[in-house]
Amino acid sequence: MAYLVGKIIAENAYVLWKLSKEIWQNPELSFEETFAHDLLTQTLQEYGFVVKKNYFLPTAFRAEFDSGRDGSTVAVVCEYDALPGIGHACGHNLIAEIGVAVGIAVKFSMERDSSVCGKIIVLGTPAEEDGSGKIRLIEKGAFKDVDVAVMAHPQVTNRLYPLILDLAKLTVIFRVKEYTDPWDGHTAVDAAVSCYNNISIMRRRFNSKWRINGIISRCNAEEAEMLFCYRAPTRKEIYSLKKMLEKCIEAAASISGCSFICNFHEEEDKNECKGMIHNKTVAEVFGMHAKSLGVLFRDFDPRFTESAVSTDMGNVSHVVPSIQPEYSIGAAPHVNHTPGFAKVAGSLSAQEPTLVIAESLARTVVDLLSNRDLMNKAKFELEFCRVNENVVRSPGE
Ligand SMILES: [Zn+2]
Repeated sequence: MAYLVGKIIAENAYVLWKLSKEIWQNPELSFEETFAHDLLTQTLQEYGFVVKKNYFLPTAFRAEFDSGRDGSTVAVVCEYDALPGIGHACGHNLIAEIGVAVGIAVKFSMERDSSVCGKIIVLGTPAEEDGSGKIRLIEKGAFKDVDVAVMAHPQVTNRLYPLILDLAKLTVIFRVKEYTDPWDGHTAVDAAVSCYNNISIMRRRFNSKWRINGIISRCNAEEAEMLFCYRAPTRKEIYSLKKMLEKCIEAAASISGCSFICNFHEEEDKNECKGMIHNKTVAEVFGMHAKSLGVLFRDFDPRFTESAVSTDMGNVSHVVPSIQPEYSIGAAPHVNHTPGFAKVAGSLSAQEPTLVIAESLARTVVDLLSNRDLMNKAKFELEFCRVNENVVRSPGE
């Protein structure tokens, strides 16, 4: 199949760069992305999409193009929120640009090639950084008529299967059993320090894909409070990690003569980010196209440290077959969420890799919308993962 998508992306490169730059110059925090919402919806309308502004959430949108031929629906997901004080330090301006690039390229293919059927949707999903907009959109039914969802995220390395983890939170409060003079040796300070150290020691027994971060948020001799955020690829592993944390807390309380209260926030965690189920069927097609355009993936290269993130796109991947590859914009050594990364995300040098990834994604979507077997295979794979919970998470291992 001759792919028409590269041509249309190249022809619109300047418009796409300008769009991305304007979003970068006007960074907006989660749920406040009115500038980006208006600019993106207006642009997509001008390109002939049917746009629903304020789609379920004030700064979400849905832009649709229907080929008029029966088929499936693919959503290309846009993010466009920024970070407090450091602007587009996660490069979401580029994710929005990719969304528009893929949308117009697939629409162009649909208009010229009758084998490309169904619908393409550019879905604007606000508040990835804080507020998990996609979780709200899933609850409201925004993904109900979507067969596959795709997006790509700027990072420091190219990865087809980035480590995207399930997230859980824990609060612990230690109290001295009977308050005595601290000189008697009973103090909540010891419990907090000991708990922190126990967890640090226990880390050696962690699976290499598990992560934990914690702080002592409040502390005096009588009472100490600690907050932890722990992550693992699957809910099952989160449970194993929880059991290990309980031992660390109990030991700290016992050695320091304190009582403790733990809150594992399990009910709230149901609304937290989930680990990504990478759809291997879709990822392989994307990988093939990206490689043919010169992208070198570093998934299993030990010279590149594996970053680990949590994102609401993980939740989408549990609902519809999804991919979220990461690609390098040449920002190293500056990593995501730093001013150095923000600078590169707004620079012209980020454009070439961004458009190569957009073209690879657009070709992938064209394949999905012109090949029912491929689409069915992607959907079957997600069903298989759901039934055999947690079996297929990191393809290639
Ligand atoms: Zn991000």
